[in-house]
Amino acid sequence: MTSELIEKTKELLATKKNIVIVSHRNPDGDAMGSSLAMYHYLIKKGHNVTVILPNEAPNFLKWMPKSEDIINFEKNTDLAYSILNKSDFVFTLDFNALHRVGDYMKIALNNYKKPFYMIDHHIDPSGYAKMMYSDSSMSSTCEMVYNFIVNIGDKALLDKDTATCIYTGIVTDTGSFRFASTTKNTHNIASELIELGIENSNIHSDTFDSNSLSRLALLGKALNSICVLEEYNTAYIYLTKEDLTQCNHQKGDTDGIVNYALSVKGVRFAVIFIEDLELDIIKLSLRSKGCFSVNEFANKYFNGGGHKNASGGKSVKNMEDTIVEFKNILKNYKKELNK
Ligand code: 5GP
Ligand code: MN
Repeated sequence: MTSELIEKTKELLATKKNIVIVSHRNPDGDAMGSSLAMYHYLIKKGHNVTVILPNEAPNFLKWMPKSEDIINFEKNTDLAYSILNKSDFVFTLDFNALHRVGDYMKIALNNYKKPFYMIDHHIDPSGYAKMMYSDSSMSSTCEMVYNFIVNIGDKALLDKDTATCIYTGIVTDTGSFRFASTTKNTHNIASELIELGIENSNIHSDTFDSNSLSRLALLGKALNSICVLEEYNTAYIYLTKEDLTQCNHQKGDTDGIVNYALSVKGVRFAVIFIEDLELDIIKLSLRSKGCFSVNEFANKYFNGGGHKNASGGKSVKNMEDTIVEFKNILKNYKKELNK
């Protein structure tokens, strides 16, 4: 954060405000973690705060403190609008462009007349926010929320609930401290959070050892569908609508499955193609190891983006045609993927 932004933020939060916190559609651990951490902190600071998420949170994150206070925009649209109308400004956390809240909630944010304050770690932020703390070198938005609170001089307000939410987002976005985005600072912050009394081992098991049978069934299907394209050091997985319904798919069940494709020895680039149950699209999750930028790949060909080693995108073609297209595009990257 620049010193100018720190001063502006202190001024902004010096008097009691009505604040709304928003994160992206299909919230993950970092989206939920950063939103709820900010919620706990701002309430402690004396503000009126509401978290509004575009749609339902996944079951494996519902244990998070105060997740029951979150308003689901799709389910409670009128209430969400009335709270937005009374708010002084909106924090947007863990996304870099307003369309990331989905087509339905995007209308509300596009019509919002008060300022946005973005805190985010994705590449290429768009220009909707008046105030912006954007840093793509950060492991997670949660790491940035920690920095935010400390930078504006409120370290003393950090408590166990806030720390628990921050730790959850760091752990989920870094693959439990495995990904290249994990730095010395990430570990230092984790250490501070443990000092605050979080039950770090429980956070891991509440989050990761809460697999539903539907998720394990889907994982089985996904592992059976792994296809390795050796000449490109690439692997992909696909799940069709039939796969999802057969396994009684629940929100969040497919999160992280793409990492199994990336775990195949020698694979540097992995993709999972998932047919969306509601929208007529194929959702792509792309992951890489090393210098291959999936952000550029997703952005150029699949209307998406994210980070260098972890991005998302979509295709309006059917599964078969999407995979054919993907394989054709790969031909342009043969050299790069064999470096
Ligand atoms: P996932 O594959 O887990 O859905 O997303 C990987 C990363 O890319 C996340 O940080 C996510 O926020 C981002 N991401 C996913 N889908 C999109 C998209 O359509 N556009 C952009 N800009 N980022 C995305
Ligand atoms: Mn994130």
